[in-house]
Amino acid sequence: PSHVVLFIISFLMSIIGKSSSPWTISLPHELLTLDTSNRLRVDTKSIELASRDFGKIVQEYPLAVLHPSSANDIATLVKFSYNSHVPFSISARGRGHSVRGQAMAKNGVVVEMTCLTSYSEESGIRVFRNPNEIGFSYADVGGGQFWIDVLVATLEHGLAPVSWTDYLYLTVGGTLSNAGISGQSFRYGPQISNVHEMDVVTGKGELVTCSKYTNPDLFYAVLGGLGQFGIITRARIALDKAPNRVKWVRMLYHDFSSFTRDQEHLISIHGLDYVEGSLIMHQSPPNNWRSSFFSLSDQSKINSLVSKHGLIYCLEVVKYYDDLTMNTVDEELRVLIKGLSFLHGFIFVKDESFIDFLNRVRNGERQLEAQGLWDVPHPWLNLFVPKSGIMDFNAGVFIDIIQKQNKTTGPVLVYPLNKNKWDDRMSVVTPDEYTFYSIGLLLSSGDDDWEVLENQNKEIMKFCDKVGIKAKQYLPHYRTKKEWMNHFGSKWDMFRERKAMFDPKMILSPGQRIFNSVL
Ligand code: FAD
Repeated sequence: PSHVVLFIISFLMSIIGKSSSPWTISLPHELLTLDTSNRLRVDTKSIELASRDFGKIVQEYPLAVLHPSSANDIATLVKFSYNSHVPFSISARGRGHSVRGQAMAKNGVVVEMTCLTSYSEESGIRVFRNPNEIGFSYADVGGGQFWIDVLVATLEHGLAPVSWTDYLYLTVGGTLSNAGISGQSFRYGPQISNVHEMDVVTGKGELVTCSKYTNPDLFYAVLGGLGQFGIITRARIALDKAPNRVKWVRMLYHDFSSFTRDQEHLISIHGLDYVEGSLIMHQSPPNNWRSSFFSLSDQSKINSLVSKHGLIYCLEVVKYYDDLTMNTVDEELRVLIKGLSFLHGFIFVKDESFIDFLNRVRNGERQLEAQGLWDVPHPWLNLFVPKSGIMDFNAGVFIDIIQKQNKTTGPVLVYPLNKNKWDDRMSVVTPDEYTFYSIGLLLSSGDDDWEVLENQNKEIMKFCDKVGIKAKQYLPHYRTKKEWMNHFGSKWDMFRERKAMFDPKMILSPGQRIFNSVL
């Protein structure tokens, strides 16, 4: 009977004219006979939700949305498309927190990965604590789990993943499809470097377990693979002993070369657990979720500094501690930051619980939400800039474009990473140099003026081309095949061959527009 209901709904939708190609026509009718058909949704709410993302720039309607109850549901759907005369596209959607439609599937089926989490046995969070504390403990985690839930579940065992993103309301499958980076990446590598094993539904609809040792081609393809090779339904995440608390320090600089020299020094020595950095420009920016760190009196002191210099740089470091190290942490921190060149008197320290530190963006999100500044367009640009180009980038982008044009709203992040923590067999692309900077222009705009910032992004890319900075986009977005080939560079052939091997009918993640770019 559910088939009949679905058919009637979709038929009605076609009459109403919701879509110029009603899904019962575009998607094969036999889909309705599958076991999973009662988990296919065509209601307006499900379709609308799957047609949007955090970017609020792209909107593409799928014809149906799958609310899977198991990895097998996903495999059945993909296999069905694969065996169809005319395969339809399928996109896994984590939290839809990409910004350029990457999780969308125009006229195809979107798989809402977070639905899997209600079925705990295979898609929940299972923690394996190594009793000897030798070797590794790990968590088996469903691909649709939020990182915040992974954190809470693992902390119950005194453990936690080692590599993070700044924001935790993202899914495991979504960040592993990119890389997953934050201030811990200099030390532990990106999140993709901290995965032991995965279950993946390939573009042929096969559910395959892969690791460095079993089906390694699939394992390396999927990590950083932009959803092109398979849908991650389970990932085995490395865990370490969790600290209780953190010492969280921000230091301000006016001189960019001192700032980067100190950052690079800090990621080359052992001792810190987190190193990031950001620009501070406007006074008390209303839509910067990082600003809540400073007390009111500190903030006014900083405002005077910003007024004087226009642009300052904020180096941010963290040292974890627990009951055993609580008496020594301050001294260790003092030694670690000794000799740094931050502006005299502009060092600020906070003591925070580990979980509140990791979940720090959530408060900012709530504040922006309350002001109507969260659910707005986000024309973000994320880049990996080689170390050799970072001084030029500062002069040409941070100063000449961002500071002088004064259009930027939202955090601007800048922090270095070293290549030794990245595995080049994975699909993700980084610059050729050993040290490169992660730059995040996490911009937000009003509903009608995101194009102004989009043009600014184009200007930044043009500047990099002009002066020969070989930057690579992180969370990449391109319009043409030529741009994608250029992005992957020497990895393009491997990426294409992997596509032919694991998703030969090009079913998966069409929203990335890699193999279906218009130009
Ligand atoms: P979605 O946007 O739903 O999907 C992204 C891509 O992955 C799509 O192509 C989709 O098809 C594919 N995909 C989703 N799930 C799966 C799966 N299970 N298997 C295979 N493919 C899948 N990134 C960082 O690295 N570091 C940060 O600090 C960081 N901070 C952020 C802060 C905010 C506020 C936001 C909005 C984003 C941030 N990001 C950060 C970017 C984020 O990692 C990516 O946008 C990520 O894709 C979002 O995860 P998601 O679960 O919403 O994925």
